[in-house]
Amino acid sequence: MLYTTIQQAAPALRDAMTAARHILVTSHINPDGDAVGSSIGLTRILRAMGCRVTMVLPTDLPSLAVVLPDAPEVGVYSQGASLPADVDLVVLVDTGSISRIEPIFSAERAYLAQRPLLVIDHHATNSGEGFLNLVMTEAAATCEILGLLAQAWNQAIDAETATALLMGLVTDTQSFQTSHTSPRTLRVAADLLALGGRLNEVMRSMMYGKPFAHAKALGMAIERMHDEGDIIWTEFTQAMQQGTGADDEAGDEITAYLSRVATAKAYVLFKERRDGTVKISMRSQPGIDVGSVAHNLGGGGHREAAGATLQMGLAEARELVLSTLRSALA
Ligand code: 5GP
Ligand code: MN
Repeated sequence: MLYTTIQQAAPALRDAMTAARHILVTSHINPDGDAVGSSIGLTRILRAMGCRVTMVLPTDLPSLAVVLPDAPEVGVYSQGASLPADVDLVVLVDTGSISRIEPIFSAERAYLAQRPLLVIDHHATNSGEGFLNLVMTEAAATCEILGLLAQAWNQAIDAETATALLMGLVTDTQSFQTSHTSPRTLRVAADLLALGGRLNEVMRSMMYGKPFAHAKALGMAIERMHDEGDIIWTEFTQAMQQGTGADDEAGDEITAYLSRVATAKAYVLFKERRDGTVKISMRSQPGIDVGSVAHNLGGGGHREAAGATLQMGLAEARELVLSTLRSALA
């Protein structure tokens, strides 16, 4: 079942979740602020409703999660570790496809196949793999959907839950800058702020909580920026990562900076991974669709922010992505 409105989805989702004995909440690999905020936010809402919930994310939490007191409780999956056996409902948040929870997806195929999946997401490329799916592509963040769900359920939200949900709203909208920031987004955020959500701490953690190494990595990536008219791109190689000590998260900084240059239509960051594959992050000017380009390359995302992982080296990835993007923009 695919729901696209809170009104339709709220009763069915509440029934499914309150009927479960033990719920596993998870989200995508390299979780961002919305993945973490929605995992923790939903878990807190469900616990307030009397549900038993365990959170497990596929890989480490982003550093901005330090402002959430529940962050240390989130299990980071490690190969060979077992997921709770009595879980009878898996809830996937902020994730377009269950295959994006690698390494859990590959290591726990049987576990996942044996349990019903419920999906709450806002990605246009969501593949609707749950038995219940709430996919609201107009929502700026999964946390916006959760704020609305809690309202529909008449479920009170405390200050910590509000802070977790604000984290998703703030990060996915880049502080309410992106074009999918709607009046409703701001209303949900205002309500969360009124409930005691620590908006300013979330903002500070996102904007002013960067490690020194990120600044160095950003400098190097800016130095390597290429201007090809419609496309501006740069790279974040393993050498740059090792030379600066910057981790994956520095890539977000670089992508955000690229897309500030007004002259291009689309922006690409090529991030070389340790395993030799390349992660691309694409951004675009309002109205330009890079989501379908990412989808064609085996990835996904939103119209104006999308990505993919390519099983090839940097040079090959550059060739493929830039030519695909050029024809899409032409
Ligand atoms: P970012 O470039 O910040 O990693 O991701 C931008 C958007 O694209 C996010 O909504 C993210 O979930 C999505 N995205 C990034 N990489 C992938 C990918 O490999 N597959 C899919 N399906 N979506 C991706
Ligand atoms: Mn999101």
